[in-house]
Amino acid sequence: MKNTLTFFLLIAAFSLKAQHDYLLKPDRVFDGTEMHSDWVVAVKRNIITYAGPAKDISAKQIIELKGKTLMPGIIEGHSHILLHPYNETSWNDQVLVESVAERSARAVNHLKASLMAGVTTMRDLGSEGAGYADVGLKQAVEKGVIPGPRLLVAGKAIVATGSYGPAGFHEGVTVPLGAEAADGTDLVRVTRDQIGHGADFIKVYADYRWGPNGVAAPTFTVEELKTIVAVAKSSGRYVVAHASSDEGMRRAIEAGVETIEHGDGGSLETFRLMKEKSVGFCPTIAAGHSISLYSGWDGSEANEPGRIRNKKASINRAIEAGVTLVFGGDVGVFPHGKNVIEAIMMVEYGINVKQTLHSMTAGNADLFHLADLGNIKKDFLADLIAVDGNPLEDITVLEQVSFVMKDGVVYKTN
Ligand SMILES: [Zn+2]
Repeated sequence: MKNTLTFFLLIAAFSLKAQHDYLLKPDRVFDGTEMHSDWVVAVKRNIITYAGPAKDISAKQIIELKGKTLMPGIIEGHSHILLHPYNETSWNDQVLVESVAERSARAVNHLKASLMAGVTTMRDLGSEGAGYADVGLKQAVEKGVIPGPRLLVAGKAIVATGSYGPAGFHEGVTVPLGAEAADGTDLVRVTRDQIGHGADFIKVYADYRWGPNGVAAPTFTVEELKTIVAVAKSSGRYVVAHASSDEGMRRAIEAGVETIEHGDGGSLETFRLMKEKSVGFCPTIAAGHSISLYSGWDGSEANEPGRIRNKKASINRAIEAGVTLVFGGDVGVFPHGKNVIEAIMMVEYGINVKQTLHSMTAGNADLFHLADLGNIKKDFLADLIAVDGNPLEDITVLEQVSFVMKDGVVYKTN
């Protein structure tokens, strides 16, 4: 009798162990690289335990996703959770007038809006004058205090003395800067200090609009950039560079940064160098588009401003060179939660749809060293979203996210 009971307890324990928490049944699955029909996905705790052709799988909860595409949670490559759209408040006033408390309160809303829009990971590219509030917000998400995507944060970011804003005050006035200024050998200390305060990677401004008549001109020397990269690398972190001028981009690439942000002035030769050195290109199309609209552009092709034409031309050169593209819109310049505007524009600007979907999932995971994210595969983390329809046929369906799971927890379902 005792033996029989033990036997049944063992069976019960075994079947409990084998049971999955969720079985997701969409019309199709985009696994981060390819689209599959008639697949199902099983999740246990926070892990994907099965992804493949439909079969009988026992799960505590079956989620029917009729007419929908299941895909990995979106990985935003360039956000500023501590900024809100410039047509609401100018960047200068956000940095100079709004308190860090107000900006953090706004960021709480931004994080929720992002997660509900299907963004389960965000690489945030600088607090823009809000110190290490990004590190604190990341910790609040991790502790479950507030809902939000997984965060990779830059902290203050590094600029060369005299190059960044807010600027234009007389010498007696000290204002908070949008990033931390440092030069020469002091870059060693500042890079280490930012790492010590919780930066997951280092963001540096390799150029800025401080040239004659406000044109983008290089800031740091190659040696200075190499110093930042060496210090970051020895701590296991990488460096990303804001760069719009060809020379700024070239210096950053030579120094060993892993992604270039903006890149409007990149020559074909520079993009080829990026391809050769496996440096990712984050064009931030949506930000430039939004800023042009804020300054009066009607959005028509006939009245296209020079900055939009430049952006299109730079993307054509990047495509020609075969550079890996990073999905990242510089969201914050435009409303948080509208991240996929960037994907829609990538397609509009000539980037292949499947490549765009790959970039916002498996591609970004790969570039950002996220080994267990961005793919719907066995043993990957359960960050999954569902959109209405098929994004390969119509990229705008990404605006209709009806299901969000992050780390095995369902945040949205309808
Ligand atoms: Zn940015």
